[in-house]
Formats: sequence, C-alpha cells, structure tokens
Amino acid sequence: MQAIKVPRPAPRNELSDQLRLLASVDAGDAAFLSCYLDLRDGVAACEQFLERRASAIRRTLAGSALEDFESALGMIRLHLRRPTDPDAQGLAIFARSLAGGSFLSGVPLDVPVTNGLTLYRVPDLAPLLTAVDDETRCTLALARNGAIQVVDLQGDRATPRAWAAFASATVARDPRKDAAAVIPDHRLQIVRRALATGNGAPLVLAGDAACLKDVVEWLPGRVAGRLTGIIDVPLSLNQQDAVRFVTRRLADDRRESAQRLVGRLVRVLRSGGLALAGTRAVFEALRAGTAETLVVESGPAPASGWACDHCGTIEPCAAVPDRCSDCGSRGTAEWRPLTEVLRLACQQGVRIVFADSDRLRYLGGVACMLKQPAEMQVMPEPALPRQLDLVA
Ligand SMILES: [Zn+2]
Repeated sequence: MQAIKVPRPAPRNELSDQLRLLASVDAGDAAFLSCYLDLRDGVAACEQFLERRASAIRRTLAGSALEDFESALGMIRLHLRRPTDPDAQGLAIFARSLAGGSFLSGVPLDVPVTNGLTLYRVPDLAPLLTAVDDETRCTLALARNGAIQVVDLQGDRATPRAWAAFASATVARDPRKDAAAVIPDHRLQIVRRALATGNGAPLVLAGDAACLKDVVEWLPGRVAGRLTGIIDVPLSLNQQDAVRFVTRRLADDRRESAQRLVGRLVRVLRSGGLALAGTRAVFEALRAGTAETLVVESGPAPASGWACDHCGTIEPCAAVPDRCSDCGSRGTAEWRPLTEVLRLACQQGVRIVFADSDRLRYLGGVACMLKQPAEMQVMPEPALPRQLDLVA
C-alpha cells in the first residue's frame, strides 16, 4: 500500500514561492475558487462552512460558470479530505476547473485563518498574506537560568532544537579567556550548529539581561549577522511563558514598525514626495513597476469596482455600469482592487506591510512608497488609469 504523505505547513521560503506561483497564474475562461478554512474546529466544521457558503454562491451562477464552480468545488472537497499536518491551524485551497486550465493548490498554515470562500478571476491572496504577515517566524536563542536553548518559532509552534548549560557568570569574568571560551560545555557546539543552520530565519536573542551580553559576544560571526533583536525576558517566567513573552513582543514590534511606516508614508504624501495612495493610483504604480513598499490597511477590503472587458478601464462604482465611460462597450467584469494590487505586488516581490491604521483607511486603505528617482522615468501619472489588461 502506498504511504500517504501528510503535507506540513510550508516554511517561509517555500511559502513565498507558492505565493509567487499563485500570483502569477494567468486568468482563464473559468474563475478561481479561493477557500480559506480554520482547521481548529475540525474538518467536519470546515465542510459545513464550505457547503453553506457554496450554496450562496451557487445561487448567483448559471450555465458554464455554474459548471466550472461545481468542478472547482469538487476539487476543494476532495483536497479537504486528504490528510493534513495535525498541527496545521489553517488551510488555503485554490481551485479552478479544466475550462480555465485545471489548477489546484493547497497551503497548510501554522496560523488560523477566518473561513472564506470566494469566486474571482484570479486567486484571492489577501487572507493568506495577512496570515503570513501576522505570523512570527525566527530562530530564538533563549539564554536564562544558566542555560541556552535554541528554539524555532513559527506561528504558535515552538520547536526546541538544542540546549546546553551555560557558565557565563564564572567564565565571563576571566579576561585571559577569549570569547569562544566563555562557555566551556561541549554541548554548546551543538547549540552553535543549531544557530548556524537557521534556514535563513532572523535570529532573536532573549533572556536575562545579565547573560545576554556574553551570549552576543559568543555568537559566531555569521550567526551574529542574522541577529535582528535582543529581548530582555523577566526571570520570573518559566520556559514556556518566556517563549510566549518573546512571541508577543515580536508581534508588538511588527505592529509598531507598521505604524511608523504609515506615519512616514503620510509625511511623504503631504510633502508631495515619492508615495501614492488609493487603490487605482497604487495599482498603476505597480503595473509600471515603480512601487517599492505596499502598505495595506488590515481591515475590510476596499469595495469592488468594474473593469471594461474591451478596453480595461476601471469603473470604481458599486453598481454595474451601463457602459464603459471610455469606449462605450457594454461588457464589464468585477474588479477587486485589493486582490489585484496584492497580486501585482506578489508577482514583483514588492514588500507588503499590513497596518491597522485609521490614517491609512482615510487614504483609501492602500498606499505605497515609490522607488527612488533613478528608477522613476517610467513612473505613471497617478491620475485615472486608462487601460487594464483583464485577461493576462
Ligand atoms: Zn472600455
């Protein structure tokens, strides 16, 4: 009997490859069904949600669109019944029927996601990107109570990798010994190796203030280069709570850094500098390849608009326009600004930052910093876009 391979939540590098693939897949004649499931309540609850939401979407469809939808839904049902990593908390599945070029991709996640099922011309990556943005991922070197432990942090999952006793108090005071001799325990070689093979994840050092300095000196040079933060952890916490303390601090730091970025962006916008706000202006900047950092409000997505099937002109109105304001054509397709903006950013590897910010909300929920002038010759007018290729 063939062994069933249980897919594990993807490490970050693999996930960015998957994201780029999902963002690059061409739109076809059939739409994508993007499914997000919170696995914490079990597969049966996910299936219930899927059927409930599917019946609501089904009512809006007819003909070949309905057939394509049923086909993609069947693929998602089958995928959901496959074994998944028991530790996975969320699952994203993207499916499209044969008519659009058969496509199925499942992404198990270390973090929970809100249940969702949407039908659109391309995969909806917003919930996946938000979940990934929200997730802590680093190698943690926790030095406390006379020991150093290396832990891989990914989402809520903490995987211990190596541990060694740590005699910093005695040896650190001996000036005849070099930094490498600070820690005599041979197990520290194992710790060193664990730190050196961190899979490119940023390194965070945490622990008692008293021994953090020694550990920094002891870190091998190329490992020290990955050090992105030092966190003082109260001695009163046990090991598990210390890890939680670090995870919370890292999440707070991420939020603060996002707020600082929004503040800088608003100042740049006010001074007429290299920044743009609003979905259409940002979309055009991304199309021209001039966006450097994309900042997205983490609340509800901006309202959908419509794009002309013939010339691609975007109509931001909520109601289906009678005809295109540019070419007069009657054919229109739904245009979801956030999905489109995130899709372009992922294709180009543009940094995406989510921020919970009223200031960003007032700016239309999406803004971007632009590249420096040397790269700006091709910068588009931030005014009304004229063309949009709906069919890639
Ligand atoms: Zn048109």
